[in-house]
Amino acid sequence: MFKKGKLLQALHVTRARLWKCKLHFPGRFAGRKGLGAGKACMPAGLRPPSLLMMADWAQSLLGIKGLLLDVSGVLYDSGGEEGGGVPIPGSIEAVKKIKASGLKLRFCTNETQATREKFVEKLQRLGFDIVVNEVTAPAPAACRILKERQLRPHLLVHDDVLPEFEGIDKSSPNCVVVGDAADNFSYKNLNDAFRVLIGLENPVLLSLGKGRYYKETDGLKLDVGVYMKALEYACDIQAEVVGKPAKMFFQSALTEMGIEPHQAIMIGDDIVHDVGGAQQCGMKALQVRTGKYSIVHPDKTKGDTKENAVRSPCLLSFSFCFGLRNNKQVLTEGCFPITADVYQWVVIIISILITIVTPGP
Ligand SMILES: [Mg+2]
Repeated sequence: MFKKGKLLQALHVTRARLWKCKLHFPGRFAGRKGLGAGKACMPAGLRPPSLLMMADWAQSLLGIKGLLLDVSGVLYDSGGEEGGGVPIPGSIEAVKKIKASGLKLRFCTNETQATREKFVEKLQRLGFDIVVNEVTAPAPAACRILKERQLRPHLLVHDDVLPEFEGIDKSSPNCVVVGDAADNFSYKNLNDAFRVLIGLENPVLLSLGKGRYYKETDGLKLDVGVYMKALEYACDIQAEVVGKPAKMFFQSALTEMGIEPHQAIMIGDDIVHDVGGAQQCGMKALQVRTGKYSIVHPDKTKGDTKENAVRSPCLLSFSFCFGLRNNKQVLTEGCFPITADVYQWVVIIISILITIVTPGP
């Protein structure tokens, strides 16, 4: 029986973590159908990463200078008592590790139930290292569009995001802005928005995201996209989406980071709006198995042990690898310091060792 040392124990942990992640990289595995078409996709938890996959992973990281993180479902699950939400185990530590690695980091969210300030305050209370100017959110982007095009909105949004629209002329509306209004999505409010749109000669509908649903602590919730589609259908128009997966939204985040699309990875729990949107913009993207993924695919996450759920969430596994890549600190996983120059070779050697030593599932 092979006696594992600390190094191999750490490698096994790393392998298990990577196994839990669904990776989407351009390149080797062309010909797949659906959103991942022409991309490399790790089979959804069916087997551990192959040597080729690990080598691809290592190679893909080499040119990466920045990360875009989705927030809901990746860092925390919203809802719960007093609407505060609950951090996803390991995510607070992961954000610290990513920041310590020296990579540029941007929080890219479609959150429209609060102003950016209130949103960041909540995340800080939960323990996250985050400040307002690190967040790209739809409401400020929508305000820029409204001013540039001299649009006066009728707002169908959450009460708590209204302060973002202070200073915007809302008299005699010539457009509708719809956000995740939650309980404000009453028949009356939807009908009021419909009447504004149908009465315009050139109806303009701005939607703060187009998600179908998201996960809160008590289950899945309908998102803004559902109501956007209702207004589109009623008025026979096409909404303009401000937020993920709109290309402009990702590009504005990249501009704020000062990097090119091929130098960035988007990490999210939504295969369409996080992963697909980022890929459309020329970025690489990773889907974590937390948030809505864990609800929609319970069969692929229920095997996690309690210990692994705490110590090995997907985002933490990414931060582990990024820490290796950038070598700005000694890793804290009982592992070893390593230089960036040898990172790729180390991962390849690790893959070989794991393949040889460990039996298949
Ligand atoms: Mg999400």
